[in-house]
Amino acid sequence: MGKPTGFLEYERETGPIAAPEERIRSFREFHGSLSEQQQRLQGARCMECGVPFCQAGVMIAGMASGCPLHNLIPEINDLVYRGRWEQAYIRLSKTHCFPEFTSRVCPALCEAACTCGLHGDPVSTKENERAVIEYAFANGLVKADAPKVRTGKTAAVIGSGPAGLAAAWQLNRRGHSVTVYERNDRPGGLLRYGIPNMKLEKSVIDRRTRLMEEAGIRFLCNVDVGKDISGEELLSQYDRILLACGASRPRDIAVSGRDAGGIYFAVDFLKNVTKALLDSDFKQNPEKLVKGRQVLVVGGGDTGNDCVGTAVRLGAAGVIQLEMMPKPPETRALNNPWPEWPKVLKTDYGQEEAAHCFGHDPRIYQATVTGFRKNKSKDVCAAQIVSLAPVRDEKTGRMSMEPIPGTEKEIPVDLVLIAAGFLGCEGYAAETFGVKLNAKGNVETAPGSCYTGSGRVFTAGDMHRGQSLVVWAIAEGREAARQMDESLMGYTGL
Ligand SMILES: Cc1cc2nc3c(=O)[nH]c(=O)nc-3n(C[C@H](O)[C@H](O)[C@H](O)COP(=O)(O)OP(=O)(O)OC[C@H]3O[C@@H](n4cnc5c(N)ncnc54)[C@H](O)[C@@H]3O)c2cc1C
Ligand code: SF4
Repeated sequence: MGKPTGFLEYERETGPIAAPEERIRSFREFHGSLSEQQQRLQGARCMECGVPFCQAGVMIAGMASGCPLHNLIPEINDLVYRGRWEQAYIRLSKTHCFPEFTSRVCPALCEAACTCGLHGDPVSTKENERAVIEYAFANGLVKADAPKVRTGKTAAVIGSGPAGLAAAWQLNRRGHSVTVYERNDRPGGLLRYGIPNMKLEKSVIDRRTRLMEEAGIRFLCNVDVGKDISGEELLSQYDRILLACGASRPRDIAVSGRDAGGIYFAVDFLKNVTKALLDSDFKQNPEKLVKGRQVLVVGGGDTGNDCVGTAVRLGAAGVIQLEMMPKPPETRALNNPWPEWPKVLKTDYGQEEAAHCFGHDPRIYQATVTGFRKNKSKDVCAAQIVSLAPVRDEKTGRMSMEPIPGTEKEIPVDLVLIAAGFLGCEGYAAETFGVKLNAKGNVETAPGSCYTGSGRVFTAGDMHRGQSLVVWAIAEGREAARQMDESLMGYTGL
C-alpha cells in the first residue's frame, strides 16, 4: 500500500467531461484525462484491502460484484501511485488483454464493490486503468506479442466482438494459427457497431486489430458463417472452432401498426450511424433520418440511452424514452447493500444531453407502447402509450407491470427506436455446427465449460451467457481460449 493515509487525504477526482452543449456537436469522445500527478494521487486513495472486493468478480444476489477478469486492482493502484507505469501495465496485462476498451465503456463493477465506496467515493479504478493502458500505448509498451514458436494447430473464431478478439489474442500468443471470421465489413462486434463513437472511438479498435494482424491473426470480414461458408467446411480446415457471434436477436414489440415505416431496432440504427460516419471519415452522418423528428425510444436501458445520445447529435426535435419499470431510488435500498451491484438511478450521458436540449429528462417510467398510428405514406406519426403499475400474482408471488386503465394517451412521433432487449443469438451459426441452444436462445454448455458438446466447437461471450457486458465477453473469450488450448495440447499455460 503506497500511501496508508491516501484515502483520508485525497478526494476522488475524475477527468474533465465536456459540457452537453459542447459534446453534442460531434461524435468524438468527450471524457478527458487527469494530469499524471493527479492520477497518481487517485492511485494513493486505494487502501489495498485485505479482502479486495474490487477484484472478486463473484455473483451476489444474481449480479456480479467486482471485476470478472480479477484484475490485480490493489497492486495496480499502488503502482499508479508510485508512478511505476510500466510495471502497472505488466500487472494489468496478466489478467486483461484489452484495457483500452473496458476503461472506456465498462460500468466499473470494481468501483461499485470498492470498500472506499462504502462510506464515501470509490477509488477511480476505471480511470487509473485507462491512464495505465494509454501510457503503455504512448510509450510503445503494447506490442504485437507474436509467438516465437507455432504449434501447427489451427483455430477459427467466428465473430470479432470482444469475446472473439480476446480468444484470438490468447490462442495466437500460445502459438496456434488463428483466423477470425466476421460477417460485418469491419471487426469489433458491438464495440464497433453498437457502442457509439462518442463512448468508444473506433480508432481505438483499429489500433488493437492492427497489432493483432501484425501478431499473425488473420481477419476475414464480410463472411457470414452458416450462409457464405458451412460448418462442415470450417471443421475440415481447422482443429478448433469458437462460436462468439453475440446475442443479437432483438426483442420486438408486437403491437398494432408495428409495420409502419420509421420504426427500427436500436442496434440497426446505431450501426447505420456509425457505418456512415466511418465510411465518410466523419464528414457525413445520416442526419436526414433524424433531423427535426420526434423520436421515441422504447426501452430505458443503456442501449436506449445510446439511441438518445445519437438522436440528439443528429438534430432530433424531441426525444422520449419509455421505461417499463419504476424509477429506481437515488441511493441504495436497504435490501441492496454494498458490495452488491447498486440498483440506483443512473442518469447517463444521452439522458443528460436530452435534458439540456429539451429541458426535461427524456425518460417516462412505468410506461409502455400499445400501438402505432401511420400517416398516408404508411410511416409512423403517433404512438399510443399507457402507464403501468406493479401487480403481484396471487399464486406465484411474481410481480409484473400491468396497464392502468384510463391512462392511455397518444403522442406524436416520427421515428421509433426499439431498445427492448435481446432474445439470444440468431441461431444459424450454431445450427451449421450442430450446436444446441437453450430455452433462452444461448448456446448450451455444462456449467463452467465453454465446450458445446458438439465436435470440436467451443463458445464464448454473449452467445454463451446472453447479452451482457464487454468485460464478461473478454473474460469468457480468455476462458474459452484456455479450454481450447488444453483440449489441443493436453495442458495449458494460458
Ligand atoms: C447498443 C449497445 C451498447 C452497449 N454498451 C455497452 C457498454 O457501454 N459497456 C459494456 O460493457 N457493454 C455494452 N454493451 C454490451 C456489449 O457490447 C456486449 O456484451 C459485448 O459486445 C458482447 O461481446 P461478444 O463478443 O460476445 O459479441 P458481439 O460484440 O455481439 O460480437 C459478435 C460478432 O459476431 C459477428 N457474427 C455474428 N454471427 C456471425 C456469423 N454467422 N458469421 C460471422 N460473424 C458473425 C457479429 O457481426 C459481431 O461482430 C452494449 C450493447 C449494445 C447492444
Ligand atoms: S476495494 Fe477499493 S480500496 Fe480496497 S483494494 Fe480494491 S480499489 Fe483499493
